[in-house]
Amino acid sequence: MSASKDQFTMQDPRTQYPQPDFERQPQSAPGLAKDMTPKPDHGETSYKGFGRLAGRRALITGADSGIGRAVAIAFAREGADVALNYLPGEEADAREVIALVKEAGRTVVDLPGDISDEGFCMRLVNDAVDGLGGLDILVNVAGKQTYVEEIADLTTAQFEATFRTNVFAMFWLCKAAMPHLPPGATIINTTSIQSYQPSAGLLDYASTKAAITAFTHALAKQVINQGVRVNAVAPGPVWTPLQPSGGQPQDKIEKFGTEAPMKRPGQPAELAPVYVLLASQESSFVTGEVYGVTGGNHLP
Ligand code: NAD
Ligand code: MG
Repeated sequence: MSASKDQFTMQDPRTQYPQPDFERQPQSAPGLAKDMTPKPDHGETSYKGFGRLAGRRALITGADSGIGRAVAIAFAREGADVALNYLPGEEADAREVIALVKEAGRTVVDLPGDISDEGFCMRLVNDAVDGLGGLDILVNVAGKQTYVEEIADLTTAQFEATFRTNVFAMFWLCKAAMPHLPPGATIINTTSIQSYQPSAGLLDYASTKAAITAFTHALAKQVINQGVRVNAVAPGPVWTPLQPSGGQPQDKIEKFGTEAPMKRPGQPAELAPVYVLLASQESSFVTGEVYGVTGGNHLP
């Protein structure tokens, strides 16, 4: 994308971004955005903010790469200060995000660590609150996806790790965050089209995404009593390191996105505006909702 285009530039969405076939490009999990071909677009040169989150304080998990990075860039350019979580091994990606948030003139609180640990999740929320001076937005983006063809080969260790990362961490972070969130605050979870149309080889992952969807609906009904809204975003195929680092087999990476009517994967930059909307007061009557961004394979 050229520097002159932003998220408002009218163009044909089919040809806006790269289409398959892609190169095979195996990485070990969690993978790095900087090693992908083509490079994902997280809105680095395109996202234009208007102060829609002015003065808000947000904690974002999975913020080094993919959808989380796009959210971090967009939130900062909309005027939010951000605390960023990611795995320590992803520092090379995280450095780029930290620099972009600083360029936007916002405060960045760097909080790497493993959210599959309950104690770390509690520390993460406390450190974010300390570093930002409070918390208005919790965005749960981090996730684990490991493709396994047959149930016979799906280990208990993987099943548990996927649930700890995708579901338990969300529970721990929401629970720890709630006492800090003022009326008007928002929580945004990241589910998936897999919640509704599960793939055979994503038995554990798809199940976690269905759990995230139900958790979002239930928590929204509960915490609106404190003036807090809870919503989720359900992406379809998105070009991020999650996929070539074991989320899909390499033959599916070559064709990644072909199953969407748009015939291409989405880019992280195309997800960020929905997180901005759900975080901001513009969506004041929206809670317990799941917003699909799927390239045409709509939610039910
Ligand atoms: P990504 O690899 O860029 O982001 C996932 C991030 O999760 C990693 O960067 C890593 O920092 C974080 N993470 C994983 N395990 C962690 C742990 N134990 N502790 C702390 N952080 C951990 O990929 P992405 O596609 O942007 O994924 C973001 C979210 O979007 C995930 O929840 C994923 O399930 C969801 N999603 C992605 C797609 C897609 O096609 N890429 C589709 C639907 C939903
Ligand atoms: Mg990453």
